[in-house]
Amino acid sequence: MTAPAPLFDRLALIGIGLIGSSLARAARDYGLAREIVCSSRNAATRAKAMELGIVEAAFADPIDAARGADLIVLCTPVGTFGDLARSIAPHLKPGAIVSDVGSVKEAVIRDVAPHLPEGVHLVPAHPIAGTEFSGPEAGFATLFQGRWTILTPAVGTPDEVVERVAELWRRCGSNVERMDPAHHDRVLAITSHLPHLIAYTIVGTASDLEEDTKSEVIKFSAGGFRDFTRIAASDPVMWRDIFLTNREAVLEILQRFTEDLTALQRAIRKGEGEALHDHFTKTRAIRRGIIDARQA
Ligand code: NAP
Repeated sequence: MTAPAPLFDRLALIGIGLIGSSLARAARDYGLAREIVCSSRNAATRAKAMELGIVEAAFADPIDAARGADLIVLCTPVGTFGDLARSIAPHLKPGAIVSDVGSVKEAVIRDVAPHLPEGVHLVPAHPIAGTEFSGPEAGFATLFQGRWTILTPAVGTPDEVVERVAELWRRCGSNVERMDPAHHDRVLAITSHLPHLIAYTIVGTASDLEEDTKSEVIKFSAGGFRDFTRIAASDPVMWRDIFLTNREAVLEILQRFTEDLTALQRAIRKGEGEALHDHFTKTRAIRRGIIDARQA
């Protein structure tokens, strides 16, 4: 059987960390683009991307990567997208598609769309896949296999344009779903952003404990704490930008979480075993659902 034709002539990845380099690997291994290039502000990152053989060229200036590309994917922290879009916009070829992998969608559209010239399409994307590691060496081609990628194109974006981006992610092994950007941000606030905030809080609380207790926290971490430390080891710049750009949705869900936490606190204080048991039984069912959906 012959392999399907590449979807793009030139794929430009702006930023080549965990997600950018995973996409580069998948694009190379599955023949998704005839040419794959990247940009990074950092000489060591550019040298590493070339040494890994995942791009044909690595530029210091994103303009040089974006020039002539038919798909440009922003793979840096979301707080950088506005400035990047402003600088590459005048150099984009007509008909080019600009996409991204950012974890927040409304703010990305707000920051990127106004800069793009007529005839250039924006198809925002968020692959729900990742690890706590960063940089080009952390990536792997199968990262997106069996995971969801959410697309949040504006109403009126031509279907064939959205479909080309959807097909890119499908060929990376992803399941693709379209969503309204505000809805995406609310869903991710509970499934991803709040869990990270809780992990950062718990690990922060532990690291403020007295020295002798702290060493025991590490020694006996398998009791549950260890799982939070993995999440709390995620990139600080990326997560700072996520909380600043998805502020409203995170604050709303945090308010509900705080109320629920207070209810559990009261149940413990009042010795209401049945209430605690009912709550923990309900949460177990969610875990079963995740296993059944093969997202465990
Ligand atoms: P990463 O491994 O830390 O890579 C980030 C990349 O962005 C690096 O190439 C870095 O370049 C560059 N960068 C950082 N700050 C920059 C700045 N101020 N200006 C220009 N370039 C900058 O991060 P990642 O995990 O791939 O995340 C990239 C994007 O994917 C983020 O928007 C994140 O929200 C999204 N995302 C992440 C995950 C995840 O689990 N990690 C999952 C889904 C989506 P240098 O080498 O120059 O530092």
